Amino acid sequence: MKINYYMPAQIVAGDNCVRDNAALMRALGDKAFIITGSGSAKKNGSLDDSLAALSANKQSCTLFDKALPNPSIEDAYGAAEELKRSGCDFVLAIGGGSSIDLGKAAAVLACNDLTPETLFSTPLKKVLPIAAVPTTAGTGSEATNYSILTNTVTESKSSITSPLIIPRLGFLDARYTYNLGYNTTVNTALDALSHSVESLLSIKSSPFTEGLALSGIRIFRECLPALQNGRSAIIEPAVREKLLLAAAIGGMVIANTGTIIVHGMGYSLTYFKHIDHGRANGLLLGSYLDFVSKKDPAKIEPILKAMGAQSVGDFEAALNSLLGVREKLSEDEIKDFAVRAGRVLHLKVTAVPPGIPDMEAIYRRAVGGA
Ligand SMILES: [Zn+2]
Repeated sequence: MKINYYMPAQIVAGDNCVRDNAALMRALGDKAFIITGSGSAKKNGSLDDSLAALSANKQSCTLFDKALPNPSIEDAYGAAEELKRSGCDFVLAIGGGSSIDLGKAAAVLACNDLTPETLFSTPLKKVLPIAAVPTTAGTGSEATNYSILTNTVTESKSSITSPLIIPRLGFLDARYTYNLGYNTTVNTALDALSHSVESLLSIKSSPFTEGLALSGIRIFRECLPALQNGRSAIIEPAVREKLLLAAAIGGMVIANTGTIIVHGMGYSLTYFKHIDHGRANGLLLGSYLDFVSKKDPAKIEPILKAMGAQSVGDFEAALNSLLGVREKLSEDEIKDFAVRAGRVLHLKVTAVPPGIPDMEAIYRRAVGGA
Protein backbone atom coordinates (compact mmCIF):
# COMPACT_ATOMS: atom_id res chain seq x y z
CA MET A 1 0.00 0.00 0.00
CA LYS A 2 1.37 3.41 -0.97
CA ILE A 3 0.41 6.20 1.41
CA ASN A 4 1.33 9.86 1.43
CA TYR A 5 -0.30 11.49 4.44
CA TYR A 6 0.31 15.21 4.96
CA MET A 7 -1.50 17.54 7.35
CA PRO A 8 0.56 20.57 8.37
CA ALA A 9 -2.35 22.81 9.49
CA GLN A 10 -2.23 23.86 13.12
CA ILE A 11 -5.81 23.90 14.38
CA VAL A 12 -6.81 25.61 17.59
CA ALA A 13 -10.39 25.35 18.76
CA GLY A 14 -12.51 26.80 21.54
CA ASP A 15 -14.28 29.97 22.55
CA ASN A 16 -12.07 33.03 22.15
CA CYS A 17 -9.32 31.00 20.44
CA VAL A 18 -8.35 33.81 18.04
CA ARG A 19 -7.53 36.30 20.79
CA ASP A 20 -6.14 33.64 23.14
CA ASN A 21 -3.77 32.33 20.48
CA ALA A 22 -2.95 35.61 18.75
CA ALA A 23 0.76 34.98 19.20
CA LEU A 24 0.58 32.03 16.79
CA MET A 25 0.01 34.51 13.96
CA ARG A 26 3.22 36.40 14.65
CA ALA A 27 5.31 34.04 12.56
CA LEU A 28 3.16 34.59 9.46
CA GLY A 29 4.31 38.10 8.64
CA ASP A 30 4.10 41.81 9.40
CA LYS A 31 0.98 42.87 7.51
CA ALA A 32 -2.20 40.84 7.07
CA PHE A 33 -4.46 40.99 4.03
CA ILE A 34 -7.82 40.22 5.59
CA ILE A 35 -10.20 38.64 3.09
CA THR A 36 -13.83 38.37 4.11
CA GLY A 37 -17.38 38.98 2.89
CA SER A 38 -19.23 42.24 3.30
CA GLY A 39 -21.27 41.51 6.39
CA SER A 40 -21.19 38.46 8.58
CA ALA A 41 -17.63 38.71 9.93
CA LYS A 42 -18.50 42.16 11.26
CA LYS A 43 -21.63 40.85 12.98
CA ASN A 44 -20.44 37.55 14.41
CA GLY A 45 -17.37 38.95 16.14
CA SER A 46 -14.74 37.17 14.03
CA LEU A 47 -13.43 40.36 12.44
CA ASP A 48 -13.17 42.22 15.75
CA ASP A 49 -11.34 39.29 17.34
CA SER A 50 -8.96 39.05 14.38
CA LEU A 51 -8.22 42.78 14.43
CA ALA A 52 -7.58 42.59 18.19
CA ALA A 53 -5.22 39.65 17.70
CA LEU A 54 -3.25 41.46 14.98
CA SER A 55 -3.11 44.56 17.11
CA ALA A 56 -1.79 42.59 20.08
CA ASN A 57 0.96 41.30 17.79
CA LYS A 58 1.66 44.82 16.47
CA GLN A 59 0.84 43.58 12.96
CA SER A 60 -0.86 45.96 10.55
CA CYS A 61 -3.51 44.97 8.02
CA THR A 62 -5.55 45.84 4.94
CA LEU A 63 -9.21 44.84 4.85
CA PHE A 64 -10.65 43.36 1.64
CA ASP A 65 -14.33 42.73 2.39
CA LYS A 66 -15.63 41.97 -1.07
CA ALA A 67 -15.57 38.15 -1.09
CA LEU A 68 -18.72 36.72 -2.66
CA PRO A 69 -20.19 33.21 -2.58
CA ASN A 70 -18.73 30.79 -5.15
CA PRO A 71 -15.78 33.03 -6.13
CA SER A 72 -14.81 32.98 -9.78
CA ILE A 73 -11.36 32.96 -11.39
CA GLU A 74 -11.88 36.64 -12.20
CA ASP A 75 -12.66 37.36 -8.54
CA ALA A 76 -9.37 35.70 -7.57
CA TYR A 77 -7.34 37.89 -9.92
CA GLY A 78 -9.16 40.98 -8.63
CA ALA A 79 -8.41 40.13 -4.99
CA ALA A 80 -4.79 39.31 -5.85
CA GLU A 81 -4.31 42.72 -7.50
CA GLU A 82 -5.47 44.45 -4.31
CA LEU A 83 -3.29 42.15 -2.24
CA LYS A 84 -0.23 43.03 -4.30
CA ARG A 85 -0.99 46.76 -4.08
CA SER A 86 -1.42 46.52 -0.31
CA GLY A 87 2.09 45.22 0.34
CA CYS A 88 0.72 42.63 2.78
CA ASP A 89 2.88 39.58 3.39
CA PHE A 90 0.27 37.12 4.63
CA VAL A 91 -3.44 36.37 4.20
CA LEU A 92 -6.01 36.11 6.97
CA ALA A 93 -9.20 34.67 5.50
CA ILE A 94 -12.37 35.00 7.58
CA GLY A 95 -15.70 33.53 6.53
CA GLY A 96 -17.21 30.52 4.85
CA GLY A 97 -15.44 28.33 2.31
CA SER A 98 -15.82 30.99 -0.36
CA SER A 99 -13.82 33.61 1.57
CA ILE A 100 -11.15 31.11 2.53
CA ASP A 101 -10.84 29.70 -0.99
CA LEU A 102 -10.62 33.23 -2.40
CA GLY A 103 -7.93 34.04 0.19
CA LYS A 104 -5.92 30.99 -0.88
CA ALA A 105 -6.16 31.89 -4.57
CA ALA A 106 -5.08 35.47 -3.86
CA ALA A 107 -2.14 34.17 -1.79
CA VAL A 108 -1.11 32.07 -4.80
CA LEU A 109 -1.53 34.80 -7.42
CA ALA A 110 0.27 37.41 -5.30
CA CYS A 111 3.57 35.63 -5.83
CA ASN A 112 3.12 33.54 -8.97
CA ASP A 113 2.82 34.89 -12.49
CA LEU A 114 0.06 32.59 -13.73
CA THR A 115 -2.64 32.95 -16.36
CA PRO A 116 -6.12 31.42 -15.96
CA GLU A 117 -4.89 28.71 -18.35
CA THR A 118 -1.88 27.77 -16.20
CA LEU A 119 -3.35 28.50 -12.74
CA PHE A 120 -4.75 25.02 -12.16
CA SER A 121 -1.88 22.97 -13.56
CA THR A 122 1.36 24.67 -12.52
CA PRO A 123 3.15 23.22 -9.48
CA LEU A 124 3.60 26.04 -7.00
CA LYS A 125 6.90 26.90 -5.35
CA LYS A 126 5.84 29.84 -3.21
CA VAL A 127 2.57 31.03 -1.69
CA LEU A 128 1.97 33.72 0.93
CA PRO A 129 1.25 32.22 4.38
CA ILE A 130 -2.45 31.81 5.14
CA ALA A 131 -4.47 31.76 8.37
CA ALA A 132 -8.16 30.88 8.31
CA VAL A 133 -11.06 31.70 10.60
CA PRO A 134 -14.08 29.70 9.39
CA THR A 135 -17.48 31.16 10.24
CA THR A 136 -19.49 28.28 8.79
CA ALA A 137 -19.08 24.59 9.59
CA GLY A 138 -18.85 22.97 6.19
CA THR A 139 -16.06 23.11 3.65
CA GLY A 140 -13.20 22.50 6.06
CA SER A 141 -11.18 24.78 3.80
CA GLU A 142 -9.12 25.75 6.86
CA ALA A 143 -7.47 22.33 6.55
CA THR A 144 -7.48 21.60 2.82
CA ASN A 145 -5.02 21.97 -0.03
CA TYR A 146 -7.77 23.19 -2.37
CA SER A 147 -9.02 26.54 -3.56
CA ILE A 148 -12.20 25.90 -5.51
CA LEU A 149 -13.12 28.56 -8.05
CA THR A 150 -16.05 28.87 -10.44
CA ASN A 151 -14.82 28.41 -14.00
CA THR A 152 -17.10 29.99 -16.61
CA VAL A 153 -15.08 28.39 -19.43
CA THR A 154 -15.64 24.80 -18.31
CA GLU A 155 -19.03 25.70 -16.77
CA SER A 156 -18.00 23.93 -13.58
CA LYS A 157 -15.59 24.38 -10.70
CA SER A 158 -11.82 24.19 -10.97
CA SER A 159 -9.45 23.61 -8.12
CA ILE A 160 -6.02 25.02 -7.37
CA THR A 161 -4.44 22.08 -5.57
CA SER A 162 -1.19 22.45 -3.67
CA PRO A 163 0.14 21.49 -0.25
CA LEU A 164 1.37 25.09 -0.01
CA ILE A 165 -2.18 26.45 0.26
CA ILE A 166 -3.06 24.45 3.35
CA PRO A 167 -3.49 27.25 5.90
CA ARG A 168 -0.73 27.34 8.51
CA LEU A 169 -3.35 28.15 11.13
CA GLY A 170 -7.04 27.44 11.53
CA PHE A 171 -9.02 29.04 14.37
CA LEU A 172 -12.26 27.21 15.23
CA ASP A 173 -14.49 29.38 17.41
CA ALA A 174 -18.05 28.07 17.22
CA ARG A 175 -19.47 31.35 18.58
CA TYR A 176 -19.13 32.80 15.06
CA THR A 177 -21.64 30.19 13.83
CA TYR A 178 -24.33 30.69 16.51
CA ASN A 179 -26.47 32.96 14.35
CA LEU A 180 -26.20 31.09 11.06
CA GLY A 181 -29.59 30.42 9.48
CA TYR A 182 -31.05 26.94 9.45
CA ASN A 183 -30.50 26.28 5.74
CA THR A 184 -26.87 27.38 5.87
CA THR A 185 -26.31 25.27 8.97
CA VAL A 186 -27.81 22.17 7.36
CA ASN A 187 -26.22 22.61 3.94
CA THR A 188 -22.75 23.15 5.35
CA ALA A 189 -23.17 20.18 7.72
CA LEU A 190 -24.14 18.01 4.75
CA ASP A 191 -20.99 19.15 2.95
CA ALA A 192 -18.86 18.16 5.95
CA LEU A 193 -20.57 14.76 6.15
CA SER A 194 -20.08 14.23 2.44
CA HIS A 195 -16.35 14.97 2.73
CA SER A 196 -15.87 12.31 5.39
CA VAL A 197 -18.03 9.74 3.58
CA GLU A 198 -16.40 10.40 0.21
CA SER A 199 -12.91 10.16 1.65
CA LEU A 200 -13.70 6.61 2.81
CA LEU A 201 -14.72 5.74 -0.75
CA SER A 202 -11.62 7.23 -2.37
CA ILE A 203 -8.81 5.02 -3.67
CA LYS A 204 -6.52 7.21 -1.53
CA SER A 205 -8.28 6.32 1.72
CA SER A 206 -5.76 4.94 4.23
CA PRO A 207 -5.68 3.95 7.89
CA PHE A 208 -4.57 7.54 8.61
CA THR A 209 -7.69 9.08 7.10
CA GLU A 210 -10.19 6.30 7.91
CA GLY A 211 -10.19 6.89 11.63
CA LEU A 212 -10.64 10.63 11.21
CA ALA A 213 -13.38 10.23 8.60
CA LEU A 214 -15.36 7.80 10.75
CA SER A 215 -14.98 10.20 13.67
CA GLY A 216 -16.36 12.99 11.44
CA ILE A 217 -19.40 10.86 10.55
CA ARG A 218 -20.02 9.94 14.20
CA ILE A 219 -19.88 13.60 15.22
CA PHE A 220 -22.39 14.45 12.46
CA ARG A 221 -24.65 11.69 13.77
CA GLU A 222 -24.49 13.17 17.28
CA CYS A 223 -25.63 16.51 15.84
CA LEU A 224 -28.43 15.01 13.76
CA PRO A 225 -31.27 15.29 16.33
CA ALA A 226 -30.54 19.00 16.82
CA LEU A 227 -30.45 19.57 13.06
CA GLN A 228 -33.69 17.64 12.59
CA ASN A 229 -35.52 20.06 14.84
CA GLY A 230 -35.78 22.39 11.90
CA ARG A 231 -34.88 25.61 13.66
CA SER A 232 -31.53 27.28 13.93
CA ALA A 233 -32.29 29.06 17.18
CA ILE A 234 -32.37 25.86 19.19
CA ILE A 235 -29.05 24.47 18.00
CA GLU A 236 -27.03 24.59 21.19
CA PRO A 237 -23.45 25.88 21.45
CA ALA A 238 -22.16 22.36 22.15
CA VAL A 239 -23.71 21.16 18.89
CA ARG A 240 -22.32 24.15 16.99
CA GLU A 241 -18.87 23.26 18.31
CA LYS A 242 -19.23 19.66 17.17
CA LEU A 243 -20.33 20.74 13.70
CA LEU A 244 -17.25 22.94 13.40
CA LEU A 245 -14.98 20.05 14.41
CA ALA A 246 -16.72 17.70 11.95
CA ALA A 247 -16.12 20.25 9.18
CA ALA A 248 -12.41 20.59 9.98
CA ILE A 249 -12.09 16.80 10.10
CA GLY A 250 -13.78 16.56 6.70
CA GLY A 251 -11.22 19.04 5.39
CA MET A 252 -8.29 17.10 6.86
CA VAL A 253 -9.36 13.87 5.21
CA ILE A 254 -10.17 15.23 1.75
CA ALA A 255 -6.85 17.08 1.79
CA ASN A 256 -5.37 13.60 1.63
CA THR A 257 -7.93 11.57 -0.32
CA GLY A 258 -9.71 14.12 -2.49
CA THR A 259 -13.46 14.16 -2.93
CA ILE A 260 -14.99 11.59 -5.26
CA ILE A 261 -17.70 11.51 -7.90
CA VAL A 262 -20.41 12.77 -5.53
CA HIS A 263 -18.72 16.19 -5.58
CA GLY A 264 -18.02 15.80 -9.31
CA MET A 265 -21.71 15.20 -9.98
CA GLY A 266 -22.78 17.93 -7.58
CA TYR A 267 -20.94 20.68 -9.45
CA SER A 268 -23.49 20.73 -12.29
CA LEU A 269 -26.33 21.03 -9.77
CA THR A 270 -24.61 24.11 -8.36
CA TYR A 271 -23.47 25.64 -11.65
CA PHE A 272 -26.64 25.15 -13.69
CA LYS A 273 -29.38 24.78 -11.07
CA HIS A 274 -27.95 27.09 -8.40
CA ILE A 275 -28.32 24.43 -5.72
CA ASP A 276 -26.10 25.11 -2.72
CA HIS A 277 -22.86 23.08 -2.79
CA GLY A 278 -23.46 21.16 0.43
CA ARG A 279 -27.09 20.48 -0.43
CA ALA A 280 -26.06 19.21 -3.88
CA ASN A 281 -23.80 16.63 -2.21
CA GLY A 282 -26.50 15.75 0.33
CA LEU A 283 -29.00 15.16 -2.48
CA LEU A 284 -26.64 12.77 -4.28
CA LEU A 285 -24.92 11.00 -1.39
CA GLY A 286 -27.61 8.43 -0.58
CA SER A 287 -28.10 7.48 -4.22
CA TYR A 288 -24.38 7.02 -4.71
CA LEU A 289 -24.18 4.83 -1.57
CA ASP A 290 -27.06 2.78 -2.97
CA PHE A 291 -25.01 2.29 -6.16
CA VAL A 292 -21.94 1.23 -4.13
CA SER A 293 -24.03 -1.11 -1.97
CA LYS A 294 -24.86 -3.13 -5.08
CA LYS A 295 -21.26 -3.26 -6.35
CA ASP A 296 -19.19 -3.57 -3.20
CA PRO A 297 -21.37 -3.65 -0.05
CA ALA A 298 -18.43 -4.16 2.32
CA LYS A 299 -17.18 -0.68 1.42
CA ILE A 300 -20.16 1.08 2.94
CA GLU A 301 -20.56 -1.03 6.10
CA PRO A 302 -18.29 1.16 8.28
CA ILE A 303 -20.03 4.29 6.97
CA LEU A 304 -23.48 2.95 7.86
CA LYS A 305 -22.24 1.80 11.25
CA ALA A 306 -20.76 5.22 12.06
CA MET A 307 -24.10 6.80 11.09
CA GLY A 308 -26.00 4.29 13.23
CA ALA A 309 -27.82 3.10 10.10
CA GLN A 310 -28.80 -0.51 9.40
CA SER A 311 -29.11 0.07 5.66
CA VAL A 312 -28.66 2.64 2.92
CA GLY A 313 -32.38 3.28 3.33
CA ASP A 314 -31.81 4.28 6.96
CA PHE A 315 -28.92 6.53 5.92
CA GLU A 316 -31.09 8.19 3.28
CA ALA A 317 -33.98 8.64 5.70
CA ALA A 318 -31.66 10.56 8.03
CA LEU A 319 -30.59 12.84 5.19
CA ASN A 320 -34.16 13.21 3.91
CA SER A 321 -35.16 14.59 7.28
CA LEU A 322 -32.77 17.48 6.55
CA LEU A 323 -33.24 17.88 2.81
CA GLY A 324 -37.00 18.37 2.67
CA VAL A 325 -38.50 18.61 -0.80
CA ARG A 326 -35.96 17.61 -3.42
CA GLU A 327 -35.31 19.60 -6.59
CA LYS A 328 -36.31 17.85 -9.83
CA LEU A 329 -34.27 17.54 -13.00
CA SER A 330 -35.62 16.78 -16.47
CA GLU A 331 -34.39 13.72 -18.38
CA ASP A 332 -32.44 15.99 -20.75
CA GLU A 333 -30.68 17.63 -17.82
CA ILE A 334 -29.88 14.26 -16.27
CA LYS A 335 -28.32 13.00 -19.51
CA ASP A 336 -26.32 16.20 -19.97
CA PHE A 337 -25.08 16.29 -16.36
CA ALA A 338 -24.04 12.61 -16.47
CA VAL A 339 -21.90 13.25 -19.55
CA ARG A 340 -20.32 16.28 -17.85
CA ALA A 341 -19.64 14.24 -14.69
CA GLY A 342 -17.93 11.63 -16.87
CA ARG A 343 -15.20 14.20 -17.56
CA VAL A 344 -14.38 15.23 -13.97
CA LEU A 345 -11.09 14.33 -12.34
CA HIS A 346 -12.93 13.05 -9.26
CA LEU A 347 -13.66 9.82 -11.13
CA LYS A 348 -9.97 8.92 -11.00
CA VAL A 349 -9.96 8.62 -7.20
CA THR A 350 -13.44 7.10 -6.89
CA ALA A 351 -12.99 3.55 -5.58
CA VAL A 352 -16.27 2.36 -7.10
CA PRO A 353 -16.55 4.49 -10.23
CA PRO A 354 -19.94 4.71 -11.95
CA GLY A 355 -20.24 4.73 -15.75
CA ILE A 356 -22.37 7.30 -17.57
CA PRO A 357 -25.57 5.16 -17.42
CA ASP A 358 -24.92 4.58 -13.69
CA MET A 359 -24.60 8.31 -13.12
CA GLU A 360 -27.83 8.92 -14.99
CA ALA A 361 -29.49 6.41 -12.65
CA ILE A 362 -27.93 8.10 -9.58
CA TYR A 363 -29.17 11.54 -10.71
CA ARG A 364 -32.60 10.05 -11.56
CA ARG A 365 -32.95 8.44 -8.16
CA ALA A 366 -31.77 11.58 -6.34
CA VAL A 367 -33.34 14.41 -8.30
CA GLY A 368 -35.23 12.92 -11.24
CA GLY A 369 -38.84 13.35 -12.26
CA ALA A 370 -39.28 16.92 -13.47
ZN1 LIG B 1 -17.53 20.14 -0.51
